[in-house]
Amino acid sequence: MIVVMKVGSPAEEIERISQEFVDWGLSPEKIVGKHKVVIGLVGETASLDPLQIQEISPWIENVLRVEQPFKRASLEYRHGEYSEVIVNTPDGPVVVGKNHPVAVVAGPCSVENEAMIIETAKRVKAAGAKFLRGGAYKPRTSPYSFQGHGESALELLAAAREASGLGIITEVMDAADLEKIGEVADVIQVGARNMQNFSLLKKVGAQDKPVLLKRGMSATIDEWLMAAEYVLAAGNPQVILCERGIRTFDGKYTRNTLDLSVLPVLRSLTHLPIMIDPSHGTGKSDYVPSMAAAAIAADTDSLMIEVHPNPAKALSDGPQSLTPDKFDRLMQDLSIIGKTIARWPQVEVALA
Ligand code: PEP
Ligand code: MN
Repeated sequence: MIVVMKVGSPAEEIERISQEFVDWGLSPEKIVGKHKVVIGLVGETASLDPLQIQEISPWIENVLRVEQPFKRASLEYRHGEYSEVIVNTPDGPVVVGKNHPVAVVAGPCSVENEAMIIETAKRVKAAGAKFLRGGAYKPRTSPYSFQGHGESALELLAAAREASGLGIITEVMDAADLEKIGEVADVIQVGARNMQNFSLLKKVGAQDKPVLLKRGMSATIDEWLMAAEYVLAAGNPQVILCERGIRTFDGKYTRNTLDLSVLPVLRSLTHLPIMIDPSHGTGKSDYVPSMAAAAIAADTDSLMIEVHPNPAKALSDGPQSLTPDKFDRLMQDLSIIGKTIARWPQVEVALA
């Protein structure tokens, strides 16, 4: 249920109403929008009568029930206002959200060694990326495949962060590693295979770094949004949803089926920012550029692209990784679409 306050409602009145809800045993959440303040109420609201609530203050504009099962994640909960995730990177804050420049995340599937991660960081930064991705802990189908270098890879990510100024995005698989990952990462990734690891979701919800929540490979949109709801309900409002392809009947030509239709669908359901990952979505580097371009045209807020200095030798996901040269070209091509829809960062040209 949401209580929409009138424009110009005095802060003391909002405070008084919130206190009244607390006295009723509810947990009010104040959401400050661009024009209005909304008080969100989640919990035992079924027996509450919206008309009765309306009467507690002349400053209440209206009281609406949130019909969706995902409450905090719903667009209704913020009364139609899209949220932004602001990430503090060494180069300054990067805003991920609707009406902001497309934030590009790039880097290798796994952090393999210092030279490759630093080189990749510098190259993707020069091409316009805002974040470096790279796995230290890798979820692999086979226990005999490369599992990531773990803690030592976190140190390499910290070095790459320092050398490039980029924000770092890396995956947590085990809650026991969360604290040390949080010391390096600017955004914590929960991978497709852990999208419904509810205890992990509660833990990432209880820490304060933004969370990148990938869609499970056979998750419905409702299941995905309910997973986001776990993070939000645990107290962390900074969630970005990442579509990375789903399993369908045809896995012969692409690794997954990249579901770009989530862009308009999610826009109608949730206020949360959206990222598209055409690398895992297609599994083939040749198919990444067209899907990245389509995602921007369909209004994505961010992109995740795997880039490796030598894809043929990559320890994981080589076939879907672009070389830095190909990534340069892709960014130039994407800038044309991005500028057309006024969603591409201003490139600061250094004057001699
Ligand atoms: C990854 O980002 O490298 C990864 C393992 O992604 P996903 O969880 O989408 O498979
Ligand atoms: Mn990968």
